[in-house]
Amino acid sequence: MAVAGGACDPVAMTRQLDMVIVGAGFAGLYMLHEARTLGLETEVIEAGDGVGGTWYWNRYPGARCDTPSMEYSYGWHEALQQEWEWSEKYATQPEILAYLDHVADRFDLRRDITFGTRVEACSFDEATERWTVRSSNGQERITRFVVMATGCLSSANLPAIPGRDDFGGRTFHTGRWPHEGVDFAGRCVAVIGTGSSGVQSIPLIAEQADQVIVFQRTPSYAVPAHNEPLDPEQVAAIKADYVEWRKTARDTSTGFGGHMARLDRSAMDVSEEERRATYDARWEIGGLFFLGSFNDLLLNPESNATAASYVRARIAKIVDDPETAAMLSPDTTIGCKRLVVDTDYFRTFNRSNVSLVDVSATPVEQITETAVVVDGLHHHVDDIVFATGFDAMTGSLDRIDITGRGGRTLRDAWSAGPTTLLGLQVAGFPNLFTVTGPGSPSVLTNMVVSIEQHVEYIRDVISSLDAEGLSTIEATEEAQAEWVAWVNAVAGLTLFHGCSSWYLGANVPGKPRVFMPLPGFVDYKTHCDAVAAEGYPGFVRA
Ligand code: FAD
Ligand code: NAP
Repeated sequence: MAVAGGACDPVAMTRQLDMVIVGAGFAGLYMLHEARTLGLETEVIEAGDGVGGTWYWNRYPGARCDTPSMEYSYGWHEALQQEWEWSEKYATQPEILAYLDHVADRFDLRRDITFGTRVEACSFDEATERWTVRSSNGQERITRFVVMATGCLSSANLPAIPGRDDFGGRTFHTGRWPHEGVDFAGRCVAVIGTGSSGVQSIPLIAEQADQVIVFQRTPSYAVPAHNEPLDPEQVAAIKADYVEWRKTARDTSTGFGGHMARLDRSAMDVSEEERRATYDARWEIGGLFFLGSFNDLLLNPESNATAASYVRARIAKIVDDPETAAMLSPDTTIGCKRLVVDTDYFRTFNRSNVSLVDVSATPVEQITETAVVVDGLHHHVDDIVFATGFDAMTGSLDRIDITGRGGRTLRDAWSAGPTTLLGLQVAGFPNLFTVTGPGSPSVLTNMVVSIEQHVEYIRDVISSLDAEGLSTIEATEEAQAEWVAWVNAVAGLTLFHGCSSWYLGANVPGKPRVFMPLPGFVDYKTHCDAVAAEGYPGFVRA
């Protein structure tokens, strides 16, 4: 079913394609590779000037993964995973970007990628069953399939603080960091935001800058990374059995950590001593594994409270000034906002050039030409770093004019919150796929694993359409409604609803509050496989 030659119509200069992929991060690159295996004429359109997605844009000091590097990488190509050498337990942004550049070169992907171009609109023509994709360079493509590999955390959230644009100094957003880097020497720097990006960058900015003032709305639970160079013997042992090792990770609820002994006990079923010893052991291992200390930390409030108070006690030990320690101590459910993995974050507040301003009760009210104003107090600064996160999961899709059947826009379809079937398709938008879309495990997992599962699923869906001589696939409204109800029911069993997280859209004013990801990777994957085996019930294929 591939079109001949990806030809350009000489009159309209409209390119005819089988597939347009939007985005050239982990998802877009793999999707292009797999589209080629089907013989599809494909173009990737990427707003950035290079591949990498997240790792192209987030170049702030300290940016690195918090999923171990050996797992935070593609598992679909044995030679690739054997030849690539990660240097650290948690790779830095430059190293991950170098890896994705290597992938692009190794598989000759760049020849099908248009860089520096933003997709602005996609509309479905019901008569021809084709999508028209319009981009910022004025070009149009007519294509059978559109794959939105636009990323869950790719649309920067810059808070509309009054006077923001009046600031006379330099401003930065962590997710749009200058490629040439930033020299903070001799500067007084405001950092607004204390999620993962703030926590990673503040210690390094503090090492350089004259003074750092951190504006904190909600304190984060953070556990140490204990980052270190990878042990060559351990790496060799993993590589000797990499295929099996990856497979084990895919059989978990988070898509990573399959090699760690699973602690299949409630925190309430052990003595206080044993509980503390377990937390101590996990704290020493470091990283997100802390939340796997017991099997009910995100299910049972009582169990959760034991982990939360353990972390608070750790903060109190690390931070010298008790008042600062108290301000840095969260009192919410641990894990209901994404757990943060840190290197020297809390210790940084013992430095004499770092101060903390609590903006939970009295928000940043204004930014003037020279200052950040809180509670009438002018904090004079030279630079402002916005570590204020993203319009997560829907933001990048919302910025594209997507029009499906009957002229209905995706914005309209999602006005009360995103609705999908399996996080892969939206009713009324045939042949349009979302990689790690809302309603799939996505951001609750090792995202590379979720991306691979979705890309392979989309590839197989298309392959089965072609094998059966069909042209379109589309979610039904009924199946979609059932799926949305199911996602809500599963999320409702967990403690994820207990705080105002970006998982719920709560960080963006006016965004509908709907829990967007689906907890539980392995169950989800098993369900997707069953749907495929049964001939895609819930989807109309025609
Ligand atoms: P992205 O990498 O976000 O790529 C999407 C691309 O689409 C972007 O390059 C963007 O420019 C492009 N795009 C969007 N809209 C358009 C448009 N309209 N036109 C053209 N191009 C467009 N996940 C983990 O599992 N483990 C981690 O340790 C981890 N660390 C992270 C650290 C940071 C700092 C951040 C921000 C996220 C992290 N994540 C992590 C999540 C991370 O986003 C995913 O792991 C993964 O990189 C997503 O890949 P992707 O290809 O789906 O999306
Ligand atoms: P984030 O988790 O959403 O954190 C944004 C921070 O900015 C929060 O502390 C938020 O406070 C604050 N904020 C937003 N608007 C504000 C305002 N108007 N005034 C004051 N404070 C404001 O964003 P992020 O840190 O960029 O991380 C997003 C996600 O990306 C992470 O959860 C993670 O999935 C991924 N990530 C991973 C890593 C890693 O370690 N590998 C690093 C960076 C990012 P509230 O909490 O009160 O909203």
